[in-house]
Amino acid sequence: MIIDISSVVTCENKSLTEKVQIELESFVSRLGEFPIIEKAPIDLQIANIDGGKLRISGTVDLAASIPCSRCLEEVPTRIHFDIDKEFRLENSAINDEEMEDIDYLIGFDLDVDKLIYGEILVNWPMKVLCKEDCKGICKVCGMNLNKGDCNCQRTELDPRMAAIQDVFNKFKEV
Ligand SMILES: [Zn+2]
Ligand SMILES: [Zn+2]
Repeated sequence: MIIDISSVVTCENKSLTEKVQIELESFVSRLGEFPIIEKAPIDLQIANIDGGKLRISGTVDLAASIPCSRCLEEVPTRIHFDIDKEFRLENSAINDEEMEDIDYLIGFDLDVDKLIYGEILVNWPMKVLCKEDCKGICKVCGMNLNKGDCNCQRTELDPRMAAIQDVFNKFKEV
């Protein structure tokens, strides 16, 4: 969806509010593809404020299905954040040093889908757990250990711990 914001840019104190639907059915990033299971329309406000600033604001509220970081079970995860962008206006033009990095504003055309995609990306949860004490999966047979125990020998050390162990052993030899 493209919104023409020229009427706001060229007119002091003018604002417009657009109801924006998130069109994404799933969110694709370098982390993978995640189904969006719930999404609320966004009231996106575009305003010419403080005698020379353009402000784009709104609240994003959606839920995505994201695998648990430990056991990989899908976890419905709520993603909720505010968009709040400000640009300086000079002579009815948008002027900002960072403008070159901004891909969602081309002239007076605001590409809402690109804006929202970028904002979801920076607000994406770093880590999702199905529950705080998720037991994860067995490294040997792949069983989900929240659902029961397997009979595997899982005494082998974490590779990072093994490296530390090696260092200790070397010290002992000296
Ligand atoms: Zn889990
Ligand atoms: Zn196992």
